[in-house]
Amino acid sequence: MRADIELDIGRKTFASGLLPELIAVLRRSRLGGLVAIVGDEESVGPELETWCRFTGNPLLESTVDNGRARWVFRCGAVADPVGAPPEDDRPVGSRLWLYTNFDCNLHCDYCCVRSSPTAPRRELGLTRIQRIAREAAGLGVKEIFVTGGEPFLLEDIAEILLSCASAAPTTVLTNGMLFTGRRAESLRALPRDRIILQISLDSPRPELHDLHRGPGTWTRTREGIQHARALGFRVRLAATVSTDAQAEAFRQFLDEEKIAAEDRVIRRIALRGVASEGVAVTRADLVPEVTITADGVYWHPVGAEDADLLVTRDIFPLSEAFGAVRRAFDREGEHANKLAKIFNCA
Ligand code: SF4
Repeated sequence: MRADIELDIGRKTFASGLLPELIAVLRRSRLGGLVAIVGDEESVGPELETWCRFTGNPLLESTVDNGRARWVFRCGAVADPVGAPPEDDRPVGSRLWLYTNFDCNLHCDYCCVRSSPTAPRRELGLTRIQRIAREAAGLGVKEIFVTGGEPFLLEDIAEILLSCASAAPTTVLTNGMLFTGRRAESLRALPRDRIILQISLDSPRPELHDLHRGPGTWTRTREGIQHARALGFRVRLAATVSTDAQAEAFRQFLDEEKIAAEDRVIRRIALRGVASEGVAVTRADLVPEVTITADGVYWHPVGAEDADLLVTRDIFPLSEAFGAVRRAFDREGEHANKLAKIFNCA
């Protein structure tokens, strides 16, 4: 992971002068900036992790290369790391995310799960999704989100969405570029009152959208949005942006288009997957939203193939998987409380 500042601490530990170095580097760093600490004493790791947790500078990565340890932490908390509205009171498990396949017709340069036309298909599959939907209905799931890669690449996407919609109102995330031929038929078959289309559009201007997503994609996505609306679907527009200025430009565009607040998503690029820049997010930054892929159950959709966000490989019984995520969330809270007591200064 690339960092903004590299600090070589040699053989220093917390017992021999590391703390002043850390304080100095924090002063030099901007909020959200990444700092890499490189040293010869791997044993510093656990104490450094504790320091990171206690000071609210999340540790993002820990590696050893050629006998030297390297830790990367982010300076400070990030507000609104993925653009979600702050809904701290939403119970864990009320939102369920399904990654259906991972392959995609696009290869966006910030894709948080490395989807692309050449990414191997890792399919959750209709049979498993039907079982998930059956079991989810009794577990307090209020919303289901279906994402791909691009879900409309799947022949049986209509059946998949119908089984999800039978359990809870369902949103399908799509780039909106495949609503032709049999896929248009799949779309037409879906219930308008149970399914929302969340279509990715990054900018009011084609240049910026196409820069990240490929030439000509903005125009085709706009056509897809029009098509979905013409069929009577509720369409939510979701932009992934790099700067506040881009977010503001998109907000103005949504105002001009008279898009309702609940049909807007504006989020920052997350430093996950193939993204080389963006907001670095850790488990501690994210309230869990149970996320199921062909590979297991993850903490949150923004890192749904990253080992640090994997909770369990076992999807079934679904009640157990939900329990595992809740227990992991409780452990995070207990850990924070314990640190607060250990470092209680007055
Ligand atoms: S960001 Fe979405 S559209 Fe782009 S490659 Fe990833 S899954 Fe596909």
